[in-house]
Amino acid sequence: MSRPVRFNIHPKEADYATAIGYGDAPPGFSGEGFFTTKLSDVVGLARKNSIWPLPFATSCCGIEFMATMASHYDLARFGAERVGFSPRQCDLLMVMGTIAKKMAPVVKQVYLQMAEPRWVIAVGACACSGGIFDSYSVLQGIDQIVPVDVYVPGCPPRPEAIIDGFMRIQELVGHESVRRRNGEQYKALLDSYGIQ
Ligand code: SF4
Repeated sequence: MSRPVRFNIHPKEADYATAIGYGDAPPGFSGEGFFTTKLSDVVGLARKNSIWPLPFATSCCGIEFMATMASHYDLARFGAERVGFSPRQCDLLMVMGTIAKKMAPVVKQVYLQMAEPRWVIAVGACACSGGIFDSYSVLQGIDQIVPVDVYVPGCPPRPEAIIDGFMRIQELVGHESVRRRNGEQYKALLDSYGIQ
């Protein structure tokens, strides 16, 4: 039996005055032909809407990420459709799946090859804490080797959860000071992981 086809023959009039929001615009002062704001806010706005993820997928959670990138969930809506596999071009490391201890140095090397500023999401129970694999061979969370910014729970997390984690990264990126990466606190964090 063929699927019923519906036509939208009574389209609603769009109210552009209220439909187009300026919610993302940073706070500042505006006047006749000018707008001033903080440099950090402008840089944050640009960065958070042009994140380039590097998917490090080793097992089943990677399949959920594929669904997140596909047309139904469409991560491209967040400006993150440019998935890269060269660490030097990416700024968001998304670790999805079980990381064996033998694989840990590879994850760390990928992280080190990424340029600052860089962020990390641990997607799924395995990346967050080892998940159900409480065994001698599995790393019990990637935060043992690299600093993690956002943890997405679930086994596997649904694409909605991955998108939620991504939006939390966007919040962090949008509000991060341009000086944070040169600060003592950040250096101390990297030092605790043995990263110069
Ligand atoms: S968290 Fe669950 S679904 Fe994700 S990689 Fe581990 S076992 Fe697979």
